[in-house]
Amino acid sequence: MTTMNRRNFIATLGIAGSAALLAGCSNDTAEQEPAADDAAESTDEASYTLVKEGVLTNVAELGFSPFEYIDDEGTTVGFDVDLSNAIAEKMGLTCEWLPNQAFDTLVPTIQQGGKADICIAGMTITDERLESVDFSDPYLNSNQALIVAASSDATTESLNAAEVQIACQTGTTGDEWIQENLPNATRVPLADVTAGMMGVSTGSYQAMVIDLPVAQNMLAQSFSDLKVLEEIPTGEQYGIAVSKDNPELLAAVNDALAQIEEDGTMDEIKQKWFGTTEI
Ligand code: GLN
Repeated sequence: MTTMNRRNFIATLGIAGSAALLAGCSNDTAEQEPAADDAAESTDEASYTLVKEGVLTNVAELGFSPFEYIDDEGTTVGFDVDLSNAIAEKMGLTCEWLPNQAFDTLVPTIQQGGKADICIAGMTITDERLESVDFSDPYLNSNQALIVAASSDATTESLNAAEVQIACQTGTTGDEWIQENLPNATRVPLADVTAGMMGVSTGSYQAMVIDLPVAQNMLAQSFSDLKVLEEIPTGEQYGIAVSKDNPELLAAVNDALAQIEEDGTMDEIKQKWFGTTEI
């Protein structure tokens, strides 16, 4: 058994089973590796806790296409879904998603523990969130987009006025960007991204600020009457949120992520959802 396979195998067994397995593995590899090393490594790999045995339980806001959304058959799909399935597979686990939750409840849910092991939700690593949860290594770069009606002659400057309503998803980095950069505008925080775009489409709101890859995807799929007025180079990075009480899980997720980058799985998933690996 290779080191990697042994690690995955041990991780599936959890704490209770690891001691028994360790004995077997040590016999296999006694000639290559000292027993003490094996013991240290196995303790590391097996010591994380999961909400449900054998399952990596995810929580996300499920209206963030193409990262996580519910398709016409009612199945949760997207880039993050494929990524978390791949991570779970590397860890010898299966993957489950909790029902949709508002974006601004996700960090508190992970922080409190007991419901979900990870949050993979197109979530930007920020200093403020790092006070409450840990993040994996970054897995994707992102920026913001300012969206207006295709027919609009607004400029970014003209949107900074009290009579202008600008939608965003509550508690997101887009929400924060409006507060910092268009402080005179009337910000409209919403739970649902599609509701925001619909509002811009019907003229209830004059603009929306949302992650650029989501703007590009949703405009191409469903909102041809909207345009990206400005790409805002915020230089964000998405990470997977994990409880600060579960550092061994964070290490295992990072290990799986590194394997996924290394073996080409990440490029496959990028190609599938974005038609390019350059994202
Ligand atoms: N990346 C943005 C953030 O972290 C938006 C995420 C989302 O709406 N799912 O705030």
